[in-house]
Amino acid sequence: MTDSPNFDTVAIHAGQEFDPTTGAVIPPVYLTSTFVQDGIGGLRGGYEYSRGGNPTRDSLQTLLAALEGGQLALSFASGLAAEDTLLRAALVPGDHIVLGNDVYGGTHRLIERVHGPWGVRNSTVEMSDLAAVETAIIPGETKMLWVETPSNPLMKISDITALAEIGHRHGVTVVVDNTFASPALQQPLALGADVVVHSTTKYLGGHSDVLGGALIFGTDNELAQKASFLQFAAGPISAPLDAWLTIRGIKTLSVRMDRHCSNAQAIAEHLVAHPALDGIYYPGLPSHPGHELAAAQMSGFGGMISLAFSGGAPAARAFAESTQLFQLAESLGGVESLVNYPAEMTHASVRGTELEVPDNIVRLSVGIEYVGDLIADIDGALAKL
Ligand SMILES: *Cc1c(COP(=O)(O)O)cnc(C)c1O
Repeated sequence: MTDSPNFDTVAIHAGQEFDPTTGAVIPPVYLTSTFVQDGIGGLRGGYEYSRGGNPTRDSLQTLLAALEGGQLALSFASGLAAEDTLLRAALVPGDHIVLGNDVYGGTHRLIERVHGPWGVRNSTVEMSDLAAVETAIIPGETKMLWVETPSNPLMKISDITALAEIGHRHGVTVVVDNTFASPALQQPLALGADVVVHSTTKYLGGHSDVLGGALIFGTDNELAQKASFLQFAAGPISAPLDAWLTIRGIKTLSVRMDRHCSNAQAIAEHLVAHPALDGIYYPGLPSHPGHELAAAQMSGFGGMISLAFSGGAPAARAFAESTQLFQLAESLGGVESLVNYPAEMTHASVRGTELEVPDNIVRLSVGIEYVGDLIADIDGALAKL
């Protein structure tokens, strides 16, 4: 490789050296729990037992670190397993965390209902309002700022550079959940964040066939080592076949993201003045409040769109249940288009909290199918309202 290969090249080659024994272009999947030792303690390549280290997981971790420009990456069985490991590595009882008021519902549930009883306190805040974030930080007690941009499902854009500056001024670890953008569109570590979190289940895996999560660390080596120890000591690791499927997905990340972005942009522009809609949440539209910030901090606007229906919950529900290509399912980021009704699906766990999603919202995960077919599907469902 050249000294600084382009992202698209890195996505295909980092950590993916051919097998030295056979020349196999694709490194083998190491489906093994343990490794033979050449005499007691005589480890080959440092491998002892797969909870502590496995070559296929290492190959994914090397790839993820290269994609996000981090010092170290750790991969996990799910996005929430990654988040749980980070929270336990970074926080102790009494610590306080500030998170967005529209953070992923599962993240809020984990912090509030799992870490809350262990003494970790949290406040939710409008993350795109920098003054509100500054006010929410309790000096000496707030230890983590949890940023998700674009956010889910309203696609709010938060200023990573400014939030990192605020966080660091208060000695706070700044975490960015980069699941919605993927490293192909947004590089939080380069913008000043300390840790990137991923649900690799979404765009990185990209084919809706494997769950996974990741943590990628910038220069905070102490935190990286604590999380690495927890990954080994508690074992929430990604299994070899899961790691391999995720690597396989990542190789096409850039070309998939290009198509996700262009399809979503075309759909958003097509729907912009539709009478059945009160609003369209897509950062690629100039009318979106975060449009300019997104244009500056991202290299594309992503594949996620939310629609607000003027006919309220009945119209939103009827639409979500009548598209054909857009299949009704939770999750996002796969090659196939999905439709989701957040109030009762992805965000059901935050009903009754300040994170509740309006019941006239439908979220689209725009896939990479032919855009004309996707638009025809949407138009067909809108015509039935
Ligand atoms: C899905 C998701 C998660 C959780 O990841 P899992 O792989 O489902 O555990 C976290 N953050 C965001 C933004 C997500 O979309």
